[in-house]
Amino acid sequence: MSPEHAIEVRGLAKRYGTLEAVRGIDFSVRRGTTTALLGGNGAGKTTTLSMLLGVLLPSAGEIHILGEDMRRHRYRVLPRMNFTSPYVDLPKRLTVRENLKVYAGLYGVPDTRGRIAELAGELDLDALLPRPYGDLSAGQRTRVSLAKALLNRPEVLLLDEPTASLDPDVGDRMRSLLENYQRRTGATMLLATHNMGEVERMCDDVIMLRAGQVVDQGSPEALAERYGHDNMEAVFLDIARREDRGVQA
Ligand code: ATP
Repeated sequence: MSPEHAIEVRGLAKRYGTLEAVRGIDFSVRRGTTTALLGGNGAGKTTTLSMLLGVLLPSAGEIHILGEDMRRHRYRVLPRMNFTSPYVDLPKRLTVRENLKVYAGLYGVPDTRGRIAELAGELDLDALLPRPYGDLSAGQRTRVSLAKALLNRPEVLLLDEPTASLDPDVGDRMRSLLENYQRRTGATMLLATHNMGEVERMCDDVIMLRAGQVVDQGSPEALAERYGHDNMEAVFLDIARREDRGVQA
């Protein structure tokens, strides 16, 4: 366990019956950086993030977050983490404000009212606070999900497609918000996304998954150079379409 790393994963695997969704992967995420978790549909990104959060039990392997063994001390670390996911909906009949209050309570956030007001300002949520969550558009829900993720000022943020269904303007503002949050707090972010522009803009490192295995990793610049491309979109297509490559380049 290196103090330089906020997240360390060794031999992590998940089987669903006979399907090996994640096949014994190793990776580390340096503190205060943003790492992209990339891969095509079904590559194992959401399964990996769910195991890091502790909502899914690994079939094998070890996860250390902020120096703690997640198998033994996950409750020490969970208050210092948070996540966004398009697959986790908030209660639909509660208003946005009520939802944020409930989560602030669960995370033990001091000065709930002040923190919600602060985030509503930053995420442009004031007009949405009194509305039932179920009435919101997909993009509006994504913004609320980001507010929920920042409520407890997490040191580690797991972001599963955090800008999915946002229009380009709001998407750009949400990226700036996350970048500012990281600059201010030194938070570590692990970001699963299909948006390669987002990776080029936000990510220091990239982990590339295919069929539950890490097939390559490195900085966006290093990967672009290794594959002879000038952008991450081309690198992604190149790696994702190589059927018979070994585990590492
Ligand atoms: P996407 O980009 O489509 O979100 P992903 O990389 O997040 O994909 P996962 O959702 O982790 O992929 O899925 C990895 C594999 O595990 C897929 O083959 C998927 O069908 C399978 N899988 C995921 N959840 C379950 C489950 N609850 N039961 C059975 N198989 C599952």
